[in-house]
Amino acid sequence: MDILAIPAAQLDGIRAAGRDVAGNGYRPTVDRAGGSPLRCCLRLSRPGEQVALIAYRPAGTAGAYAEIGPVFVHAAACDGYPADGGWPPEYRDRQQVLRAYDDRGRICDALLVDGADAETGIAKLLADPANVVVHSRNVLYGCYMFAISR
Ligand SMILES: [Zn+2]
Repeated sequence: MDILAIPAAQLDGIRAAGRDVAGNGYRPTVDRAGGSPLRCCLRLSRPGEQVALIAYRPAGTAGAYAEIGPVFVHAAACDGYPADGGWPPEYRDRQQVLRAYDDRGRICDALLVDGADAETGIAKLLADPANVVVHSRNVLYGCYMFAISR
């Protein structure tokens, strides 16, 4: 199981262009309170860190399923998240919706999981060979968090 944060090269491109995928200007801000779920390194922001809110379209979706939505990232390049790092430790206390997509980028299945036992839901979805990638999303706001692949 690989945990896939937003690729650093994609973020470098957005920062260099000064625009996100929806054409919004790239505007770093100070996250005074902290606690924003960062999709670049899959942890919560610390009070005072520089972050940016960008529109992002996660890979693995296509056609009408190619949703674009808001995500927080570090304003500048960070260390990222290792694919073999397992479920992000700072997201263990969150429920998540897991959406499975097929090789044509269509949603095939979905589950609600507790972060403490997310691996059980991931294993169930990835046991179906038709499911090639799983996206983890927030329960109430629906925002994309990260992807999971075999
Ligand atoms: Zn980061």
